[in-house]
Amino acid sequence: MKALAIIALCLIPGIASAQTVARKTVSLLAGASMGLVVHESGHLITGALFDAHPGTKPIRYAGIPFFAITHEPVTRQQEFVISSAGFWMQHVGTEWLLTARPHLRDESRPFLKGVLIFNLATSAMYAGAAIGRLGPPERDPLGMSRSLGRSGWPEPVIGALILAPALLDGYRYLKPDQRWAVWASRGVKAAFMALTLVAGRSGRPLP
Ligand SMILES: [Zn+2]
Repeated sequence: MKALAIIALCLIPGIASAQTVARKTVSLLAGASMGLVVHESGHLITGALFDAHPGTKPIRYAGIPFFAITHEPVTRQQEFVISSAGFWMQHVGTEWLLTARPHLRDESRPFLKGVLIFNLATSAMYAGAAIGRLGPPERDPLGMSRSLGRSGWPEPVIGALILAPALLDGYRYLKPDQRWAVWASRGVKAAFMALTLVAGRSGRPLP
């Protein structure tokens, strides 16, 4: 009996820590899911704003099933906004997180870290897709690149524009005292949004 009590006492901390890890993992995944919802809501809200009747359709790339946001044909400027809006929502979320909680790294906030990880990883993934010109034709960077300039901008340029704030925000998470990174990141994000002003001003309409 005494031996059982000793074994139980040894196991309880292990069980408790396993439960803590499980709870943190669930919170992290919930945060990442929230990040996805926020990103996609950007496309849906702007699509609805332009009366383009946004919806979803199932897609498959490299055997992986996913979904894409669809909408009716719009002007190139509107297309730029709809394609960019997922990143803009991410940027707003990340700015809020890193401004309200600059020392998030040292805090036990798995949900918020899940949101941040989703935002940075999604930007890195899209940047890679844009630079390598990979992925389904519905991908955001392609919609953005086709909406700029006389006959579209090179997609890798859009990839660099998506990657830069993600790298800077990752650096801010690790080194919150580096103010230059804060303003560099905000500057790139503002420039990204300002491209709306020149999008679709010239060149062919989207097919
Ligand atoms: Zn998107």
